[in-house]
Amino acid sequence: MADRRYAVISGASSGIGAATAVRLADDGWDVTIGARREDRLREVAARSGARAFALDVTDPASADPFCDRIDDCALLVLSAGGALGLDAIAEADEDDWQQMWQVNVMGSLRLIQRLLPKLVQSGSGHIILLGSIAGRQPYVGGGGYNAVKFAVRAMRDVLRLELLGQPVRVTEIAPGMVKTPFSEVRFKGDRARAAAVYQGVDALLPEDIAECIAWVASRPPHVAIEQLVVQPLQQADARTVHGPDE
Ligand code: NAP
Repeated sequence: MADRRYAVISGASSGIGAATAVRLADDGWDVTIGARREDRLREVAARSGARAFALDVTDPASADPFCDRIDDCALLVLSAGGALGLDAIAEADEDDWQQMWQVNVMGSLRLIQRLLPKLVQSGSGHIILLGSIAGRQPYVGGGGYNAVKFAVRAMRDVLRLELLGQPVRVTEIAPGMVKTPFSEVRFKGDRARAAAVYQGVDALLPEDIAECIAWVASRPPHVAIEQLVVQPLQQADARTVHGPDE
């Protein structure tokens, strides 16, 4: 039992979270996954051998029973998140902003608060937050998403201060463009608009980020990687992508 390593991943029904579940399980972690879409979770569980439970991080009535099922946790990967809309602040939809805040920020807060005792108890705990280059560079239409990813970055720094002296590392993984359903969710199911985002760009794959997470989590316990910014070769920053016609 002592050398079993237990990981919990939120937002693991899709994209980066799903790829991370498969990767960590391959690396020998005992993985528990959560997200709202149970059919997709089951499919990821079948591929990875992870335990899967329904989880809506925006709802304490869902986060509580999910966390109550976790006996051990040494690694918490907070991948539940994403963007909604690409509107200028002047026209932004308040509900979109509320939902982004609830998922990316409050959702992470809820799982951290509930699982921190287990992370400490593990003797070698690790929280990995999914930030973004959007938490570094504002862009037109990015207002709501920029705000939440800047907040995730602030949470990373505050946690590192507050947990100093505790056996819990805190890392922010900040990707650029990763080819996942992220843009389809952002554009509320508009697949053509989502596909255009990745047109002519050799974007990162979710497995690339899963590999970064697996690497960060497998450093010796005294090595705390604060942040890892990872972008495709064709991307310089949140606003600058080298397209096919350039
Ligand atoms: P994705 O494929 O859309 O995955 C998002 C995951 O979050 C899904 O599993 C979704 O599952 C889950 N989720 C959403 N709302 C939730 C809720 N209320 N409760 C629980 N789970 C919820 O997108 P992704 O690209 O993998 O995104 C993962 C993280 O990486 C996000 O934080 C995103 O902001 C960040 N990121 C992505 C990119 C990119 O280019 N793709 C770049 C930088 C950062 P359900 O819908 O089943 O609940």
